Amino acid sequence: MDFTFSAEQNALRDTVRKFCAAEIAPRARAADDSETFPRELFRHWGELGLIGVRYPEVDGGSGFDKVSDCIVREEMSRVSQAFASAWSAHSHLAIWPIWRAGTAEQKQRFFAPALAGERIAAFGLSEPDVGSNIRALKTRATKVAGGYRIQGSKLYITNAPIADFITLAARTRPETTPDAISLFLVELPDPAVRISRLDKEGIRASETGLIHIEDLFVPDACLLGGREGTYPIILECLSENRVGVAANCLGMARGAMEVALTYARERVVGDRTIGKYQAIAHKLADMAADIEAAHWLVYYGAWRVDQGTLDAATAAKVKLVASETALRVSEQAIRILGGAGIMREYPVGRFHRDALVYVIGEGTSEIQRNIIARDLKL
Ligand SMILES: Cc1cc2nc3c(=O)[nH]c(=O)nc-3n(C[C@H](O)[C@H](O)[C@H](O)COP(=O)(O)OP(=O)(O)OC[C@H]3O[C@@H](n4cnc5c(N)ncnc54)[C@H](O)[C@@H]3O)c2cc1C
Repeated sequence: MDFTFSAEQNALRDTVRKFCAAEIAPRARAADDSETFPRELFRHWGELGLIGVRYPEVDGGSGFDKVSDCIVREEMSRVSQAFASAWSAHSHLAIWPIWRAGTAEQKQRFFAPALAGERIAAFGLSEPDVGSNIRALKTRATKVAGGYRIQGSKLYITNAPIADFITLAARTRPETTPDAISLFLVELPDPAVRISRLDKEGIRASETGLIHIEDLFVPDACLLGGREGTYPIILECLSENRVGVAANCLGMARGAMEVALTYARERVVGDRTIGKYQAIAHKLADMAADIEAAHWLVYYGAWRVDQGTLDAATAAKVKLVASETALRVSEQAIRILGGAGIMREYPVGRFHRDALVYVIGEGTSEIQRNIIARDLKL
């Protein structure tokens, strides 16, 4: 096994790091304060090929692999998890199913402009009554002449307030079995779809919505892959994205660690810089060890995706470890900064608020433990 990144992957990391320093870092604080996402960023990402990083060139992507996708995520989240979340919901959750199972026409109409950053996408799975238990989703799509009529609600949907279309999960048959769940590509705006913006404590610059759908007509051409029962695609999409969001968590942990390290080297209390106190040095040592462990697990998970051997339990382990690491490390960073850790002038509080989102979003830590425990065949 090779433990180094390729020259191409290192060059990609440099490019993204420079982009984040120039385009994301200057906007991160203001976007967090105003809770608005600068939508022109999607165009920039599209022009740089960053939306299509893990898609093959024959499909219009940049032709990198999942390891590279994780490098991009880590670098973005090191600076702003909110922007990385908008990117992730669009570049993976919403369009991966289209790449994987869409018809040629759907790829042309939805996937290609989304890769270019010309159209913004959201992924509508969670509902007011259905978060962790997605098999029980209630949004109903009823077959009618030429298409489907959809009725239901979706909650906590990233990018919904700024989206041009939603990849939406709905039940195409009344049975509660998973094969009765299908995906639809819903064009926005539509008078039958009402979207309200939610106020949040974490990833505030990523816009999140509550969606009410009342008697929406969707033509047959917008049923993903032209077939009902695409629930397995949703599961595959979530599993792979768990490795992706784990890379985001690794980025948040690194961002918080870097701030804490700089502070510990510069802040003088008494006769020395605080890093010289063993209590602070040990915190930083634990943080460094935690990050190292998460790093190897994340890139192992990405490698398994690239080998085509990722299983649900491995994806769950990767996500659980990385998200809890980000939460722990960002909390320790706040403690190391003392009062400054509570001030918005430093981003450690933002990293911690954002890290909290990721022990919940994309499947809570409890759900990851359920998946891992199931695999232990207790
Ligand atoms: C900022 C943000 C952005 C999001 N973006 C999207 C998006 O773009 N698209 C989308 O579809 N969804 C999105 N989500 C939804 C997210 O995936 C859900 O919030 C998450 O799956 C948890 O569902 P819930 O909030 O309904 O919690 P619930 O399912 O109500 O869970 C509440 C608590 O009960 C625990 N629990 C539930 N079931 C079990 C069980 N079987 N065993 C043990 N514990 C259990 C949970 O772990 C949790 O602690 C987003 C959420 C947030 C916060």
